[in-house]
Amino acid sequence: MKKLGIVLSVLLLLFITARGLLNLTAVQNIILEQGTATVAQRGARVLEVSESLSIYVCGSASPLGAGQAQACIAVITPDHFYLIDSGSGSTDNINRLGLPMNRLQGLLLTHFHSDHIAEIYEVNLGSWVAGRPKPMTVFGPPGVDEIVDAVNSGYRQDRVYRSGHHGEDLLPSALGVLQHKTIAAGTAFEDGDLKITAYMSEHPPIEPAVGYRIDYRGRSVVVSGDSNVNNETVKITDGADLLLHDALSLPTVTSLAKAFASTGNTRLSKIVTDVTDYHASTKSLIEFNEQSSVDMVAFYHLVPVPPNAIVKEIFMRGAPDNYVLTEDLMWFELPIDSEEIVVHRP
Ligand SMILES: [Zn+2]
Ligand SMILES: [Zn+2]
Repeated sequence: MKKLGIVLSVLLLLFITARGLLNLTAVQNIILEQGTATVAQRGARVLEVSESLSIYVCGSASPLGAGQAQACIAVITPDHFYLIDSGSGSTDNINRLGLPMNRLQGLLLTHFHSDHIAEIYEVNLGSWVAGRPKPMTVFGPPGVDEIVDAVNSGYRQDRVYRSGHHGEDLLPSALGVLQHKTIAAGTAFEDGDLKITAYMSEHPPIEPAVGYRIDYRGRSVVVSGDSNVNNETVKITDGADLLLHDALSLPTVTSLAKAFASTGNTRLSKIVTDVTDYHASTKSLIEFNEQSSVDMVAFYHLVPVPPNAIVKEIFMRGAPDNYVLTEDLMWFELPIDSEEIVVHRP
């Protein structure tokens, strides 16, 4: 007992001494220098890009739930970098992943719900500051021009301030202005050996809404955006390696709606119930496995974001072994001349 008392007294003395040291200017400056060096090193870190087709989850969430960024998927090869959607919180994840914003080629929008477009300008700003050599193009279904014009207009003064403050040499005004390109469902474009195909998704009453298939040197990934599973999903995933699909856990959402109703919050109860008809339930995605040849299915745009291990279990109920639940900062590597899919967890 006496020994314990001595140990506690020594610890207390050390704590008081350390607190005292932290008040000294010289000690604070040493800690500050070390901290800023770490930040600078992190900023200078260059993402090691392999020969593979790499898919990064920069946002795994839907508007329901917290703690993860909203929809964002990054497609990277040695020569390409496209983002699919940029919901709230996604730019922070892009920075944490160290994605090469200086060579961002475009942002592909699936549709114009806020959880998919919230950070368009943040992505534009981040890549402009990083030294992107061309204006950023935003691709999307018809209506993308209206979104891009509104963002350009709403942030015009921000661009003027930044170019004015840092100089035209560092931040040329012309590179801060977004460009737009409409990509209708059923059409595709090629960028070298990367092919991007838009397909019609089912997210009523939102029309048009699209998903994208990416093909690169024999490897392929489909990203659904928000959609139910239907024949289009089966067709577009024919021969694909990986499907990242919008996923809704019906038991969880139903329980949530009931809980809101029981506390008298009928508005939220109705909203939560409404979303069940335009996102793919995990049950429908598991049934899809019977008709599909896709090698791996990854649930993203999680409705809701599972807050703990039990809800994660509920989310994955009945899912086969080739199904995974994504989370922010997870990434998938699809090496060329291989059938392998390497899943990297944060
Ligand atoms: Zn959404
Ligand atoms: Zn949506």
